[in-house]
Amino acid sequence: MVYYKTTAEIELIRKSCLLVSATLAEVANFLKPGITTRQVDILAEKFIRDHGAVPSFKNYKGFPFTCCISVNDAVVHGFPDNNELKEGDIVSVDVGAFMNGYHGDSAYTFAIGTIPDDVKKLLRVTKESLYKGVEKATVGNRVGDIAFAVQEHTERRHGYGVVRELVGHGLGKHLHEDPQVPNFGKRGTGLKMKEGLVIAIEPMINLGKKDVYYDTDGWTVRTKDGKPAAHYEHTVCVQKNKPDILSSFDDIEASEKANSNLDASYLSMV
Ligand code: MG
Ligand code: MG
Repeated sequence: MVYYKTTAEIELIRKSCLLVSATLAEVANFLKPGITTRQVDILAEKFIRDHGAVPSFKNYKGFPFTCCISVNDAVVHGFPDNNELKEGDIVSVDVGAFMNGYHGDSAYTFAIGTIPDDVKKLLRVTKESLYKGVEKATVGNRVGDIAFAVQEHTERRHGYGVVRELVGHGLGKHLHEDPQVPNFGKRGTGLKMKEGLVIAIEPMINLGKKDVYYDTDGWTVRTKDGKPAAHYEHTVCVQKNKPDILSSFDDIEASEKANSNLDASYLSMV
């Protein structure tokens, strides 16, 4: 069942999304070598609750934390833990917030200090692929057009692995609604999108092969070849001419620019 949102509902979802974005910007300011991902999770939970919202993921199907925090070869759904982050790690933080009856959902992969050039490129290309998918979220296009755009840029153009087992999704009153939004597929297939469809577009892209496995905790998804993976996610509302991106990376990117020695090419958008 696909729910199309009213203008009032879209604005409430935007509020939840912008709180998630602000949470991720707090995380961006906080991350550095020596920090544990458990500390990141505590910070995020406090920030979300201090702003009158509830973490969407906590207790969702038994998930025990506020954030999914996935380091290096962990693709998504990682458990925050007491291991210290170190220079050269990448860390994907996925957060949801529930407020006024609606969820917001966004994710970002952060670099801890200087990371290898091939991993830096993985982050850049994965983020580019997110925007290439987002571009297709307009009335009359199909979900397969989004999927194709992401796969085209990451797998066919750069030879990365596109995770098949996990996909983006509709959201609103529920964290996961129809339709599923894969990061692979054929143009011109799938649901024809109408105005007011709100979807999370979230490429999960591996530096190496596409194959993944579940860790013994039953949640953490890791690459089989042990190579790093990136994950970026925006919540987007389908509109006539131009998609409306309800979450924002602006403050995260400003923080990255201020705090890191990343070069300009990493920060440039498509
Ligand atoms: Mg998410
Ligand atoms: Mg999501």
